[in-house]
Amino acid sequence: MKVLVLGSGVIGVASAYYLAKAGHEVTVVDRQPAPALETSYANAGEVSPGYSAPWAGPGVPVKAVKWLLMKHGPLVVRPRLDPAMWIWMAQMLANCTSARYAVNKARMVRLAEYSRDLLRALRAETGISYDERSRGTLQLFREAAQLEATAKDAAILAESGVPHEVLDVEGCIRAEPALARVREKFVGGFRLPDDETGDCHLFTQKLAALCADMGVVFRQGVNIKALSVEGGRLAGASTDAGFLTADAYVLALGSFSPLLLRPLGLSIPVYPVKGYSITAPIIDEAAAPVSTVMDETYKVAITRLGDRIRVGGTAEVCGYDMTLRPARRATLDHSVGDLFPDGGDLTKASFWCGLRPMTPDGTPVIGPTRLSNLYLNTGHGTLGWTMACGSGRVIADIISGRKADIETADLAMSRYG
Ligand SMILES: Cc1cc2nc3c(=O)[nH]c(=O)nc-3n(C[C@H](O)[C@H](O)[C@H](O)COP(=O)(O)OP(=O)(O)OC[C@H]3O[C@@H](n4cnc5c(N)ncnc54)[C@H](O)[C@@H]3O)c2cc1C
Repeated sequence: MKVLVLGSGVIGVASAYYLAKAGHEVTVVDRQPAPALETSYANAGEVSPGYSAPWAGPGVPVKAVKWLLMKHGPLVVRPRLDPAMWIWMAQMLANCTSARYAVNKARMVRLAEYSRDLLRALRAETGISYDERSRGTLQLFREAAQLEATAKDAAILAESGVPHEVLDVEGCIRAEPALARVREKFVGGFRLPDDETGDCHLFTQKLAALCADMGVVFRQGVNIKALSVEGGRLAGASTDAGFLTADAYVLALGSFSPLLLRPLGLSIPVYPVKGYSITAPIIDEAAAPVSTVMDETYKVAITRLGDRIRVGGTAEVCGYDMTLRPARRATLDHSVGDLFPDGGDLTKASFWCGLRPMTPDGTPVIGPTRLSNLYLNTGHGTLGWTMACGSGRVIADIISGRKADIETADLAMSRYG
């Protein structure tokens, strides 16, 4: 079958890989000159099934007010006259119950665990390398209340059989020796030993090269302007390189996915939530993290990527605005400067932002639509790197008419009614 994948972020490229493996004739189209130049470019680098959880949870509305008022707070809302923004925020609130949280988290962990296993298999099969490490991730708590609040997550992880450890200060230092220098700054941590780390941009580019070897055609630098429907099917995509057609289509346009679906009468609650990162060269190995340390107070992830430290975080609800705001960088500088003061050279750091394609229930939208040949693979929010291989494989299985290895019915857009 001829399949056109719209989008060459990590999700589009992973979809293309598994579709090509399943024997399809695949073309990928994207407006950027190369794969992974938008949200998949400089994320925090965590492949973290254990940390897979929706942002919407019990107690979050109260915490959100605190975060909005905090210096270096992890959340900023810039209200706009955009109905999609307000509807999405109302849907987030509706997901802040214990019952919804448990359903959403279990669903996310299922996909993320599957995805991490596929990533390992892909490494073994292809030898792909991307500054990866398999040394777990550590959520670091500065306050005792944060440590106590992990009990619920621990229970869900235990049910799903995901290994995890609650650590005291010494335990955290055993996992991340550089933290010995700042032991007075934290009270404990929660470690997920099976989590991994790696550079998503590097991975996507190398996977795209493997795809090209398998015959996948990449049409980079092509803007998709609109999609056309005929007789309950997608007829093709109007682009600035002409009208592109295929037997089936996978829409993987990240935060921009709802914009092309809306004129077709298809509505998915995916909204952009801006995040920022800095990437600094390591100047002292012993003072740098060995894996990811998630500074829970500021919701900032500090990750070792080869000879660099990547620091990512903050959630700015501001529509499609890509302004790089110095105040947001100050939060990242503050967190890494506090926990790993001598690890990296912040004066040489690069500064970046990207739009997380967020759903209100944290779960991506993967599966069929009411148009018989249009499939979605989008809405991966905070965890697109973690969930990429699993999402790509699931969409390839669905399009190929094969039963997927994990349950997929509750990942499709039909869950929104
Ligand atoms: C600060 C930050 C930290 C993060 N940290 C992590 C992390 O540690 N772990 C993790 O798992 N995830 C993380 N994420 C989330 C992860 O980066 C995203 O979920 C993932 O990159 C989304 O991939 P995507 O392929 O869906 O979107 P994108 O990478 O944005 O790809 C979409 C593609 O569609 C193309 N496109 C859009 N519109 C058009 C059009 N009209 N015509 C042609 N092409 C178009 C774009 O050019 C782009 O290449 C983080 C995100 C941010 C912002």
